[in-house]
Amino acid sequence: MNDTYMAADLPFPGSPVVPEMCDGSKTIQFQCRKGIACWNACCSNIDISLTPYDILRLKQRLGISSGEFLLKYTLPYEMDQNGIAGVKLRPVENGKACQFMTPEGCGVYQDRPTACRYYPVALLSMRKQDEYTDTQSYALVKEEHCLGHNEPRTLTIDAYRKEQGLEEYDELARGWRQLILKKKSSGPSIGKPSKRSLQLFFMVCYDLDTFRSFVTSEGFTELYDLPADETNKILADDTSLMLFGFSFLRQVLFGENSIALKQAAAEKRRGRVQENAQQIEREAREKRAAEQDDMYGDSVD
Ligand code: SF4
Ligand code: SF4
Repeated sequence: MNDTYMAADLPFPGSPVVPEMCDGSKTIQFQCRKGIACWNACCSNIDISLTPYDILRLKQRLGISSGEFLLKYTLPYEMDQNGIAGVKLRPVENGKACQFMTPEGCGVYQDRPTACRYYPVALLSMRKQDEYTDTQSYALVKEEHCLGHNEPRTLTIDAYRKEQGLEEYDELARGWRQLILKKKSSGPSIGKPSKRSLQLFFMVCYDLDTFRSFVTSEGFTELYDLPADETNKILADDTSLMLFGFSFLRQVLFGENSIALKQAAAEKRRGRVQENAQQIEREAREKRAAEQDDMYGDSVD
């Protein structure tokens, strides 16, 4: 089967996912509450991947740039053998605990990442080859140290997602998840992504403030034909910029035509590409001719 599964970022190393997929209507028994004997046990040993929207929310909360946030609070990692980049929360120096953990609980609770909101549920995304649309299903993670499973509260996964504010988080991460799924399943016809495309993916998805500067750069404005009101909107609002970034990546990485190109610039660019190809051909011809000259010259000598 050609479907690709993307397990949600299980927040804790070695988390045993009960291998039974279910949909949002499944009822679970769980409650995490202050005063529970295992309070903070989960945040003391983290392995949490971040979505672009997680980074956006956290950098806004901390009042710092995306670049500063990435440096201080994250670690990059490769999501697969093609080198697609992901970002994880960086634990405290020489430890495994989350930098945001406090004795009272999560220090960034209103802006906590998707994986923290989902726990103990795991999100599984799935898509068919050559489709952007993914379908979501879930699995339950049961770890011994988590006593929340013994609490006398039952609710459906859909209700739990709602309670944890996940509808918004999932909606705003959908474009990113679809890009990853498409990149992972594009197979040998598209080939290994170039270093430049991987760097572009990283900047657009995780370093929003650098992407904002990129959108105002000459190289970008010469090539893309964005109406002034749209430019103003994406420059003023992080979420609009992030969503625009996903469309931009679909265009650059998969050839989708979602952003208009300036006619003259597009032609100039095509011209440059053609010129380069002709130059390479010319050089190859000259090299071949020189090699033949050498060969015949040798035989005459
Ligand atoms: S962000 Fe908050 S909930 Fe998530 S691991 Fe850190 S302290 Fe725990
Ligand atoms: S109940 Fe589970 S999620 Fe809540 S503090 Fe304890 S270990 Fe963490």
